[in-house]
Amino acid sequence: MKTPTNRDDCEALDRDDPIRSFRDQFHLPTDLIYLDGNSLGALPKTASARMTEMVENEWGRGLIRSWNDAGWFDKPIAVGDRIAPLIGADDGEVVVCDSTSLNLFKVITAALSLRPDRRVVIAEAASFPTDLYMIEGATELLGGYERRHIGDHDSTLEDLLGEDVAVVVLSHVDYRTGKLHDMKTVTELVHRHGALIIWDLCHSVGAMPVHLNECGADFAVGCTYKYLNGGPGSPAFVFAALRHHDHAQQPLSGWHGHAEPFAFTRAYTPAAGIGRYRTGTPPLLSYAPLEATLQIWEQADLDAVRAKSCQLTDMFIALVERECTDWGMTLASPRDSTQRGSQVSFRHQASYEVMQALIAHGVIGDFRAPDLMRFGFPALYVRYTDVWDAVKVLKEILATEQWRNDRYATRTQVT
Ligand SMILES: *Cc1c(COP(=O)(O)O)cnc(C)c1O
Repeated sequence: MKTPTNRDDCEALDRDDPIRSFRDQFHLPTDLIYLDGNSLGALPKTASARMTEMVENEWGRGLIRSWNDAGWFDKPIAVGDRIAPLIGADDGEVVVCDSTSLNLFKVITAALSLRPDRRVVIAEAASFPTDLYMIEGATELLGGYERRHIGDHDSTLEDLLGEDVAVVVLSHVDYRTGKLHDMKTVTELVHRHGALIIWDLCHSVGAMPVHLNECGADFAVGCTYKYLNGGPGSPAFVFAALRHHDHAQQPLSGWHGHAEPFAFTRAYTPAAGIGRYRTGTPPLLSYAPLEATLQIWEQADLDAVRAKSCQLTDMFIALVERECTDWGMTLASPRDSTQRGSQVSFRHQASYEVMQALIAHGVIGDFRAPDLMRFGFPALYVRYTDVWDAVKVLKEILATEQWRNDRYATRTQVT
């Protein structure tokens, strides 16, 4: 696509955008350009009504009966079946519960139990920290494991794989740089060495089509509050390939993962199937906005979402490099859109301050330590004109050095 030379070009692209109407299904403040849907997705217009329905009817009127009548008990599996098509999984392979961090613990321990003779876990040194922390917690608890990190001493995955490797945990899209792994090639490489793979899909679910089964993935986790727009703290998901269901068990053996929760037996028998990845009572109210947003996703063509996302990120890179490099902006994401998620990161000597200035001027991205400005482009509701306008504001902030104002240097708790 040709880089636009004026705002009219972008308006034309918005008019011709085959998925432009999805934006109308979200509440977005009119005075903001929101480029952080990769951290917290936008609010679907039907979310409040679904939430009210659950509170007033299912809870208020139905009370305890709603565990049966409103499908509360099976909700984690039912909602999992609705996430499955977004990640290339089959019915009964996905359950929605708990947080991504907790789910990582479950699948790491389950996968390790499938390779009892192997004692090494591989992850990327640059992984999202919770992935590394949960690997550390799980392997310390079990004892006798070695952790190897891709990137330490310039090592690649291939360098670290061997007959002692049990499990590899990778983010499909890197949260900092947006670098995208080729899921199929990497999964095959890991399997050739007899190890299992766990994919973290936090930055790819809803950003692009994902084909877990086609790629032969073993396990996956992901959150629903980023590109999926499930709302703050919406429950995460676990995928376990059907072939592993009967052979692996996870140690957080809560009663909702039991084969017969209401038999109230003394000993734990895991449910057959994906249900064994559940733990306790789910935060049901948090499923309501997720159900609302899944109705939107059920109308969306993920290939069209991906195509637009690549155009938005390509355009953002081209415009920033045309307009802003004089002021020290350097690209930290892959230049080739086929190797990139739906986000773009740039480095600047004062990334934190520049981002704070951008936010104060109505362009919301985020900062990721140590030095990255990160911009997300959820294609369901970001427009080409948003890209144009955001770069204009960025250029103004850099050219006038407004970011040097002291007020932009104060660090907040959440960046
Ligand atoms: C956002 C994100 C998480 C979030 O984990 P929570 O348990 O939901 O806080 C985990 N992993 C990656 C790669 C993420 O991007």
